[in-house]
Amino acid sequence: GLVKHFETRLENWLQRVKPVVKAVDNVSFAVGERETLGLVGESGCGKSTTGRLILQLIEPTAGAVRFMGTELVGADPRELRRLRKNLQIIFQDPHASLNPRMRVEEIILEPLYAQGERPSVELTNYAGELLEKVGLSKKHAQRHPHEFSGGQRQRIGIARAIAPKPKFIICDEAVSALDVSVQAQVINLLQDLQEELAMSYLFIGHDLAVVKHIADRIAVMYLGRIVETAPKARLYTSPRHPYTQALLASAPVPHPRLRQSRKRLHGEMPSPLNPPTGCHFHPRCPLAQDICKSNDPVLREIEPGQHVACHFAELTGGPASTPAAL
Ligand code: SF4
Ligand code: MG
Repeated sequence: GLVKHFETRLENWLQRVKPVVKAVDNVSFAVGERETLGLVGESGCGKSTTGRLILQLIEPTAGAVRFMGTELVGADPRELRRLRKNLQIIFQDPHASLNPRMRVEEIILEPLYAQGERPSVELTNYAGELLEKVGLSKKHAQRHPHEFSGGQRQRIGIARAIAPKPKFIICDEAVSALDVSVQAQVINLLQDLQEELAMSYLFIGHDLAVVKHIADRIAVMYLGRIVETAPKARLYTSPRHPYTQALLASAPVPHPRLRQSRKRLHGEMPSPLNPPTGCHFHPRCPLAQDICKSNDPVLREIEPGQHVACHFAELTGGPASTPAAL
């Protein structure tokens, strides 16, 4: 039930109330042990905000975040700091997220220093081990971030995230800034580390093709809400929400003729400042009826494990009924 409203600065003297952006609008999901949940949607749909809410980097307007049975929202700061080492994040931009003045060793040991540990020979050795684990060398420990390529910098970001032996990592567009060939290497590394360290991931991305490689289950977000969740195999073969269907159809495919024959997603995502009434997707949806403009569809289970927020979810399955106009 996570909710995050941001008050905007676009204050109009004619208006008494400041406009509010509902960046995250009643979002619920669970991530299991050793599971990877992919959180997918266009930029601005609220996925990164959701990640930051989970980590308590920003405060939710409403809702709860439970980690292994402990409520994080409003938790005692000391308790939160203790739990914090279990919850880490890898950011999109390996350039901006690493302090250029710090040496690699300091960067990757940062989460441990935040827990109150002091520099020591043991920690230096540990930093070397972490570097080897992410495919770099311990010789790199005394260098600075600018001496590395984008992919190597992201490996440093991963070493920092795994340093405190977390149970859960949010990968926020963690490979989006990398070349395609490097993306695959980093995803393989994340998968190997997940196996070895028994971690769970929330893998945030806008590219369904990338998320497909790593996720067990996918949640699709649109304008602050989750519109569909399903196990990976189901989501890619039998998507039921018209938005998921359109996203999949507009994913890049290598052959130009194939690309032409595919359905595309038309129009821009509306502003979250002034979202459409009822189903947020109705202005772009080829199946929209009058009820869609007035009533919010709730997320409901259509097939075992597949939840869809669409009034007509029963009618959207199967190739024959795939919306052709998208
Ligand atoms: Fe389209 Fe209506 Fe379903 Fe929304 S509820 S996705 S507008 S058919
Ligand atoms: Mg983002």
